Amino acid sequence: MLIPPPAQRIQELKALLQQASYDYYVLDAPKLPDAVYDQLYRELQDLEAADPALITPDSPTQRVGAPASRFHSVQHNLPLYSLDNAFNLQELSDWQDRWRRILAPEQFDPDQVNYVCELKIDGNALALTYENGLLVRGATRGDGLTGEEITQNVRAIRSIPLRLKLENPPPAVEIRGEAFLGLDPFRQINQERQQAGESLFANPRNATAGTLRQLDSRVVAKRQLDFFAYTLHLEGISAEIPGAETQNAQVEQLQDLGESMLSLPASDHKPQIALPQSQWESLEFLQAIGFRVNPHRQLCNSLQQVGDYYEHWATARRDLPYLTDGVVVKLNALALQNQLGFTQKAPRWAIALKYAAEEAPTVVEQISVNVGRTGAVTPLAELRPVQLAGTTVSRATLHNADRLRELDIRVGDTVIVRKAGEIIPEVLRVLLELRPESAQPFEMPQHCPECAQPLFREPDEAVTRCVNASCPAILRRSIQHWASREALDIRGMGERWVEQFVERGLISSVADLYDLTAEQLQSVDRMGEKSAQKLVEAIAQSKVQPWARVLYGLGIRHVGSVNAQTLARQFWKAEQLAVAELEAIEQVFGIGKEIAQSVHDWFRVPANQRLVERLQQSGLQLEGAAAESGEPKPLAGKSFVITGTLPNLSRDKANALIQQAGGKVTSSVSAKTHYLVVGAEAGSKLTKAEALGIAQLSEAELLALLQVNPEEALEN
Ligand code: NAD
Repeated sequence: MLIPPPAQRIQELKALLQQASYDYYVLDAPKLPDAVYDQLYRELQDLEAADPALITPDSPTQRVGAPASRFHSVQHNLPLYSLDNAFNLQELSDWQDRWRRILAPEQFDPDQVNYVCELKIDGNALALTYENGLLVRGATRGDGLTGEEITQNVRAIRSIPLRLKLENPPPAVEIRGEAFLGLDPFRQINQERQQAGESLFANPRNATAGTLRQLDSRVVAKRQLDFFAYTLHLEGISAEIPGAETQNAQVEQLQDLGESMLSLPASDHKPQIALPQSQWESLEFLQAIGFRVNPHRQLCNSLQQVGDYYEHWATARRDLPYLTDGVVVKLNALALQNQLGFTQKAPRWAIALKYAAEEAPTVVEQISVNVGRTGAVTPLAELRPVQLAGTTVSRATLHNADRLRELDIRVGDTVIVRKAGEIIPEVLRVLLELRPESAQPFEMPQHCPECAQPLFREPDEAVTRCVNASCPAILRRSIQHWASREALDIRGMGERWVEQFVERGLISSVADLYDLTAEQLQSVDRMGEKSAQKLVEAIAQSKVQPWARVLYGLGIRHVGSVNAQTLARQFWKAEQLAVAELEAIEQVFGIGKEIAQSVHDWFRVPANQRLVERLQQSGLQLEGAAAESGEPKPLAGKSFVITGTLPNLSRDKANALIQQAGGKVTSSVSAKTHYLVVGAEAGSKLTKAEALGIAQLSEAELLALLQVNPEEALEN
């Protein structure tokens, strides 16, 4: 494995993150997704924590934001800190442990602690100074200590009051909050830039940064920037209070000062309001003095409630007209906040709980190729496991030889992987800056890694294939497909069993499954008597699956489960489909030329014809039940369990009859079971059904319920 030593990796990560910060903060044109930046940053943090001697002052972990440029620099009265991140509820609880360890037990009562949850608006922090109630200065965060003075531009943001709604305003006060662009204005700006041939902003946050640093404030006014306030700092006036040495001393002095003078304008006929003692009160105060405060805040009494808020907004945030990238959790009591203070970078009393990323960086540990059931050979990246959209990803598809060449992916590379919704994870790109020197290009193999036969690629196809019909990989995959949930749904037929059945020559086609005996299965490693018996039963149960599923299970190219249903409705016997002319198949609504050709060709292959015959002999459903051709199903939605031996009907027959009538047969009794069909020597299922009060049926009662003539049912 090509993993560089920590010192080298740290060097590489620092260089990459420094460049990314420059692109992001100075050029407002990021080249990495934020989540990727965050994760590489974390990797650097972890490596530095493991060996602090490797930390250098120029490391991105040692500073808060970005250097100020372009505008006049201003010193912040109090640093504008960043926030520490948590990416899941466990990390949130770790944060709670951390701050609890710092405080002495008498300093807080665990039952009284509450948290304010706010949405983490994806914008840019601003510090606004008001002197005697008037906006006098607006500054960006910059590197946290020094920001850019952008007062003119800040005045152009309509939701920022130019004068506070306070009758006796303090000499100076600092308000902090997030400037942001809504999604609609963001799209409009990019549209206009596209028309003007200008480069596009990567996301609303960068568009906000770019707008705030416009030299012409009329442009800012046009762009509909918005602002949510979240912090009130009376200690911002420190410069004017002689002798205020420490932050806490300033706060005390200011509280003395502030309490005497903060009141709402007389016109509002409201009584004087007390200085906020908590974050929650601060937010209400900010709202009262004229700021927009995000309405979706919530006061929580426990981390459990914080977790609920986080989970709620994980989906609800998609309906907001602006972007959020997490929630910010803050200890509510300002007294606790003051006791905890700050680390070099962030407050100890707050944490940003971010949402699972759909993109993340990781390292390629191996490149392998996988042979699928159609013989398609797909290159795969075996990855160092990474959390992505809530799951651990350790493999990603590289699609085909062309994509492989295009990516030029190599073992040891750091890559960005993406997983959106249900899509299989894929590699988006390689971070060439982090490529180890010794990394070698990967070549697609010329021969099948499973059967060693030469691989082929049609000139007009992207896919490379193994065309050896008896390739063990193809056989294994086609059996797995046959047993899959959407096909014949054979429970317990896991990958490792299939592998062994094929390897030991127990099966060489799906039809062989139906000849397997429990004794044969027991010859397989670690397969006990009970498991073998269960698997034989599960295989037998699959005989009742309807014709559409059988058709899907055959694994004909281009015939997915929907196409299989469409075809099975039209050709409701395998015999009909097997002899159908190409034109007849093409005429089926929803079936295209390519699918029709594939189906037609499949049924012309003698080996496939023999397979269908064998399946028919084994008792699989190769024709649709009456119900499939549109007649109403009397037992639709009803769930059955069968126990004991029925006087006349075999298990398979009873199963098939119930399914044809729209019912479902399951193997164990639960509260959801509607009927238990009871035969001789019924077992524990009967006891359980009695306990649950489930209706019992004899064979005769079942046949009556199915509305079938007993003689007919028993005849065929
Ligand atoms: P951050 O964005 O993770 O968190 C801190 C910020 O959250 C605050 O400064 C504030 O602006 C904001 N915020 C929003 N709502 C808030 C609320 N209700 N209360 C308090 N704060 C709130 O950290 P950061 O230091 O601002 O920036 C680092 C981020 O920048 C990283 O997450 C990274 O993704 C991004 N970045 C990306 C690249 C890139 O190449 N893509 C480069 C550098 C930085």
